Amino acid sequence: MNRSVIVIGAGIGGLSAGCFARINGIGTKVFEMGTGPGGLCTAWKRNGYVFDGSIHHLAGTEEGSAPNDLWKALGAFPADVVYSDELVTIKDAEGRSLRVFFDADLLTQELKRIAPEDGQMIDAYVDFSREFEHLDFTEMGFWKWSDWPSRLVKMIRVVKRGGASMSEYAKRFHNPVLRRFFPTFQYNWTDIPVIAHLVIFAGCRQKRYGWYPGGSLAFSSAIARRLTALGGEIHYRSEVEKILVKGGRAVGVRLKSGESHYADAVISNATEYATMVKFLDGQYMDETQKAWFDHPVDAMRMGLNLSFGVNRDLSAEPPSLTLFAERPFEIAGVWRDCVTVQNHSFDPSMAPKGKSSLKVHYDTHYSYWEQLANHPERYREEKERIASTTLDQLEAFYPGIRGEIEAIDVATPLTTERFTGNGRGYGDPSVMNSKQMLRSMLHKPLAVSGLRSCYLIGQSVGGAGILGCASMGRNAVKALCKERGWKYQR
Ligand SMILES: Cc1cc2nc3c(=O)[nH]c(=O)nc-3n(C[C@H](O)[C@H](O)[C@H](O)COP(=O)(O)OP(=O)(O)OC[C@H]3O[C@@H](n4cnc5c(N)ncnc54)[C@H](O)[C@@H]3O)c2cc1C
Repeated sequence: MNRSVIVIGAGIGGLSAGCFARINGIGTKVFEMGTGPGGLCTAWKRNGYVFDGSIHHLAGTEEGSAPNDLWKALGAFPADVVYSDELVTIKDAEGRSLRVFFDADLLTQELKRIAPEDGQMIDAYVDFSREFEHLDFTEMGFWKWSDWPSRLVKMIRVVKRGGASMSEYAKRFHNPVLRRFFPTFQYNWTDIPVIAHLVIFAGCRQKRYGWYPGGSLAFSSAIARRLTALGGEIHYRSEVEKILVKGGRAVGVRLKSGESHYADAVISNATEYATMVKFLDGQYMDETQKAWFDHPVDAMRMGLNLSFGVNRDLSAEPPSLTLFAERPFEIAGVWRDCVTVQNHSFDPSMAPKGKSSLKVHYDTHYSYWEQLANHPERYREEKERIASTTLDQLEAFYPGIRGEIEAIDVATPLTTERFTGNGRGYGDPSVMNSKQMLRSMLHKPLAVSGLRSCYLIGQSVGGAGILGCASMGRNAVKALCKERGWKYQR
C-alpha cells in the first residue's frame, strides 16, 4: 500500500515529522518556502562570522534519555556537545560581578559573597533548584505512565512553592545588588515564573541541556540530511498557498507557483494563523482561534536580535553576560537598564580564528516595527541607531570594541517573519488556555476540527523549544497512523 504525507515547512517540527513519516514507510515531501532547513533554528554568515538565530540551550543532551533517543533517531546527535559551568555572568557599571554557577555549592558561595546578609534565602533558593534536577516539565511528553504519579506529586509541590515571577522572587532578598541582578538570571525574562527558570537551570546542571557544536544551522542541517537519507524529499523555494481538501480530508497542497501536489495527509509546520486563515480560508477555525487571531499578542520575547562580528578573541569571557548600564538607554521605544549578550567564542566554528561572534537580544513589540516599516528609511535608521546604542553599552565593558567590529546584523520581528513566517505573537505560552497548555506540555499536535488527516505542529501551536517541536512532529505522525489505521513502528 502506498501511503504518503505532505509536510509544509522544514522547521524543526516539519523535519522531525518528515523523518518519522519515512521511518514508518510513508512517502514524504516537504515544501519549504525558504532556501534552507531549520526555520527559526538557523544561522547566517556575514563577513566570515556565523550569526546564530536560536539555540542557547538545547534540551535532550543527556545520554540514554528519551529526548536524546529522539535526537539520535533524527541523526542530530554528536558526541562533543559543549557544556558551560554557568548560566550567566552579570556585571554592572560599578565593577560588581556575579557568576550564576550551575554547581549548587559554587552558586551558594558566590551568592553569599555578594549578599552575605541573605544566607538563609540563598540556601532556600539553591535548595529549591535541586528539586528540579530530576523534574523537567518540558519533557512531560516523554514521560512513561509509570513516571506520572510520583512526578505529578512533585510538580504540584514545586508549583505551590514557586509560583512567583523572577521579579517577585527577587524581593525576598535584602541585598540591593542581588535584588537587581536576580530577575535577569534567565535571559533577562523578569516576568517568567521562577520555576520556569529553575527547570532550565537545574537541567543545565544535570547536563540535560547543552550547546550543539556549530550551532542552530548545523543542528537543523543534520536532521535535513537524515530526512533525505531516509528517502524523504525537501523542496526549497516552494511556498504553499493552500491546503487542498476533498470529502472532509486534507489531500494535498497548492504552491504559490501554481503547482498542486497530492498525498494522503498534510502536516503543517507553518504558523497556526497561516494554516487556519490562509491555507484553509478560515473555514475550520474555532472560537478560541478567532479571538486569538483578532487580538494577536504584540510582545515578542527575543524578537530583536543583534549580532556583531568582533576582531578580538573573547574566548576567555563568559558564554553569556548581562551587563547593567550606568544609566537607562532606549531601544525600540522601551527604556532598558541592561544588555544580554551571548558570546559564541567557545565554539571555533562561529568566527574566524582569534575573532568572536556576539549576539545581543531584546524583547520587543511587533507593532513598533510594523509601523516603522511604512517608512523604509526610518526603519533602516532605527536599526543602525539600535546597533550603535548597543555598542555604546558594550564599549563601557570592553573598551575599544566599537573599533573592532567587522560585521553587524540586526534582525527585527519583520526579518524573522520574512524568513520563517513567524510573525506577531508566535508561540507565547502566556496567552494559552489550560487545554492548549496541556497539549503543549504533552507535545501533542493540533488536529483541525472538522477536517481529517490534517495536523498542525511547531512553536505557534505550543511546541516548547526545539525539543518540544521535534517531539510534536513525531507525535503528528503517530496520530496520523492511528487515524488511518497504519501501523506505527517507533
Ligand atoms: C532568538 C531565539 C532563541 C531561541 N533559543 C532557543 C533555545 O535556546 N532552545 C530551544 O529549545 N529553543 C529556542 N528557541 C525556539 C526554537 O528555535 C523554536 O521553537 C523552534 O525552532 C521552532 O520550530 P518550529 O517547528 O515551530 O518551526 P519554525 O521554526 O516555525 O519553522 C517553520 C518553517 O515553515 C516554513 N514555512 C512557513 N510558511 C510556509 C509556507 N507557506 N510554505 C512553505 N513553508 C513555509 C518557514 O519558512 C519555516 O522554515 C529560540 C528561538 C528564538 C527566536
